[in-house]
Amino acid sequence: MSRIIIVGAGVGGLCLAQGLARAGIAFEVLEADAGPWIRGQGYRLRIDAMGQQALRDCLPTSSFALFQASCAVSGSGRFVDAQLRPLRERRPDSWRENAVEGEPDGDMSADLQVLRDILSHGLAPQIRWGCRAASCEREGDGIAVHCEDGRVFRGDLAVAADGLRSALRRQWLPQAEPESIGALNIYGKVPLADAGALEPVMLAGPTVAFADGCTLVVEPMRFRAGMAELADRHAPGCRLSEPGDYLYWALFGRTERLGGPLGPDGDEEGLRQRLQAVCRDWHPSLSSLLARSAPASILGREARMAAGVPVWRAGKLTALGDAIHAMSPAGGVGANTALADAAMLARCLAEDGVGQAVMRYEADMRKRAEQALASTRAGTERLLRLA
Ligand SMILES: Cc1cc2nc3c(=O)[nH]c(=O)nc-3n(C[C@H](O)[C@H](O)[C@H](O)COP(=O)(O)OP(=O)(O)OC[C@H]3O[C@@H](n4cnc5c(N)ncnc54)[C@H](O)[C@@H]3O)c2cc1C
Repeated sequence: MSRIIIVGAGVGGLCLAQGLARAGIAFEVLEADAGPWIRGQGYRLRIDAMGQQALRDCLPTSSFALFQASCAVSGSGRFVDAQLRPLRERRPDSWRENAVEGEPDGDMSADLQVLRDILSHGLAPQIRWGCRAASCEREGDGIAVHCEDGRVFRGDLAVAADGLRSALRRQWLPQAEPESIGALNIYGKVPLADAGALEPVMLAGPTVAFADGCTLVVEPMRFRAGMAELADRHAPGCRLSEPGDYLYWALFGRTERLGGPLGPDGDEEGLRQRLQAVCRDWHPSLSSLLARSAPASILGREARMAAGVPVWRAGKLTALGDAIHAMSPAGGVGANTALADAAMLARCLAEDGVGQAVMRYEADMRKRAEQALASTRAGTERLLRLA
C-alpha cells in the first residue's frame, strides 16, 4: 500500500490529508510550525464554489457542516472612494458576492485559523508539528524527505505543500521561484467591540475602497455563535480557536505608494507608521479602523507571483498550492486553487497507482493553475493601474 509524505499543514496540505484519510491511504504531514495554535493572526479567506466543492469532497460530512456553520455571516459588497462615496462603476466583473443563507452559490468567508483547525480534526496521529523539511531525494522506488532536525521520512510520494517559500521547490525547481510584482499587502483585524464608531454600512458586508493609489478591503467577520458551541453542534470533539467577531482589513498597493520595501518580519511599529501616512486624509471610519488595529495583528507581505507552472518529469515528488503556483493575494483564489489541487490529487491517488495518479493530477493542476494565474495577473494589474 502507498504511503504519502505531505510537507506543509496549510490549507492545501491538510485538505489533501483529509482526502487521503477518507480514501484509506496512509500518509504523514510534516509541518514547520511548532503546534496548531502557534500563529496569532487568522485572516479571512473567501472560499469560492471550487474551494467549497474541494472541502466537501475531502472532509467528513460532519466537518464540512462545521466549516459551513463557522463561516461569517456577511452581506453584499460595495465599492467606494477614500471618503466612502459610492463608485458603482468600479465594481470588477470578477467580483463574487457572499453566499446568502440558503443560497449556496456565493463565496463563504472563513477564518483561516478556524479552517485550519477543522482541516486538522482527526489527524493528530499523522501530523508531525515542529518538523521543517529541508530537502528530499530518490531512494530506491520511493522518496526520502530530510528535516532540519535530522529526522527522515520515507514514502512512495512526497507532496510539496509548503507554501510560497517552499524548501522542496527551491531544491527541485530553483527556476520556479515566485517573482516580486512590485506591490505590498498589509493586513490586520480589529475586534468588533474595539472598532469604535463606524459608518453602519461597513458592518453590513465587504467594503472595497479605491483610495489614492491603493485598494483597501474591509469585511465584518460576524459568526453565528461561539466556535465551541458550533463544534458541539456539528462535529463534537473538534477543538476550534475562538476568533470572536472582528473586522478584517487588507490594504494592497504599489510598494512605493505604501512606503517602500518592507523591513524585517515583526516590524509592527514600522507598519503602523506606513498605515498612518497612507490613510491620513481618508474618511475617519477607514483611518480610525486601521489606527485601532492591535500592532500584533498587523502583517505586511511583499506580493510575489509565479511566472507560470514549470514542466517537469512526473516522478516521486509533486506539489500543490502556493508551493508551485503562488499568486498575488489580490486575486483571492490562492487558497481555493490549493484546495482544488488537494481534492484532485486525493481523488487520483484513490483511483490509480502513484505513477499514473501523479501524471493525471499534474495535467489537471497545470490547467487550473495557469487559468488562476492569468486571471489573478489581469486583476492585479487592473487594481494597480486603476486604484
Ligand atoms: C491577507 C491574505 C488574504 C488572502 N485571501 C485569500 C482569499 O480570500 N481567498 C483565497 O483563495 N486565497 C487568499 N489568500 C491566499 C491564500 O492564503 C494562499 O494562497 C493559501 O494559503 C495557500 O495555501 P497552501 O496550502 O498552498 O500554503 P500555505 O497556506 O502557505 O501553507 C504552507 C504550510 O507549509 C508550512 N511550511 C513552510 N515551509 C515548510 C517546511 N520547510 N517544512 C514543513 N512545513 C513548512 C507553513 O508553515 C504552512 O503551514 C490570501 C493571502 C493573504 C496573505
